[in-house]
Amino acid sequence: MITVVEALTTHRICPCDCFAVLSPEDRVAGIRAVYDLDDALRGWGYTPLYDVHGDLLWKQAQAKNDPTYRGVAVRFGECIYRRLAGSMLHEVLHALSGDVTQANYGVLFGLPYGVPEDVPPSEEEAFLAPFNDGEARAWAGVWMLGQHRYGISWDLRTARDIGTYGFVGGNALVSVPKGFRPVAHIDRQHHAERYYPRGRKLEAQARAWVEARMGELCERIDEAAARGHKSRPRQYPDPERVATAAPRKIGRNDPCVCGSAKKFKQCCAVRGTLADYHPAMSR
Ligand SMILES: [Zn+2]
Ligand SMILES: [Zn+2]
Ligand SMILES: [Zn+2]
Repeated sequence: MITVVEALTTHRICPCDCFAVLSPEDRVAGIRAVYDLDDALRGWGYTPLYDVHGDLLWKQAQAKNDPTYRGVAVRFGECIYRRLAGSMLHEVLHALSGDVTQANYGVLFGLPYGVPEDVPPSEEEAFLAPFNDGEARAWAGVWMLGQHRYGISWDLRTARDIGTYGFVGGNALVSVPKGFRPVAHIDRQHHAERYYPRGRKLEAQARAWVEARMGELCERIDEAAARGHKSRPRQYPDPERVATAAPRKIGRNDPCVCGSAKKFKQCCAVRGTLADYHPAMSR
């Protein structure tokens, strides 16, 4: 298992080349944010997982559907300052609007594309509503909390351009863990014109929710982070020093920077996406 310090000091160059693009002051602010968010998640009893293939870890956790699971996948590729910081803010916001005494903040692993089998079809929409609100807060709040608490003014990144919502009524089906029934839902690929307006509306409400209780949310983070800080597995090096750790070049046999868990040469190197983005990487 990779520690937070290893993740921050042994990263490879990312598609957005944040290390070069951001100022040294911004990078220090980013490292401080990651430390604080790491403290908070551990303070609530979770274990942030810094292996680069977070999507895979999340799918494994979902398939296991274990109510005692306390892992939180936070790293989705090599990007530290936009993607890692963005996903950690997202997770902490989930914690703040959910139940931290439970796995996955109390959100059942089969959501949002399935519901427990005993939920009647007529109640699917109502059952998923609180999940959608939580996801919207955890999504729309990323930039608000990042700016307010850490002075992050650069563009953070989450998984996509909009939250992952479970809107009942479309024809998209996704396989769900045992004990759940897949819900035919509106997804953003096949039903973009229905998905986006509903999602954006939820996110407007979520921004108002976060705005109205920013002080209270930060107090709760302070409290959890103080506990987490005391139980750090080791001393973390100064953010000023860590922010000078330049990313390494990617070797062709390295795990791909996108977090797919494939080798670079079998993934983004062939697709050409990273080379287009960042010419230095194709060499
Ligand atoms: Zn980046
Ligand atoms: Zn989420
Ligand atoms: Zn890749």
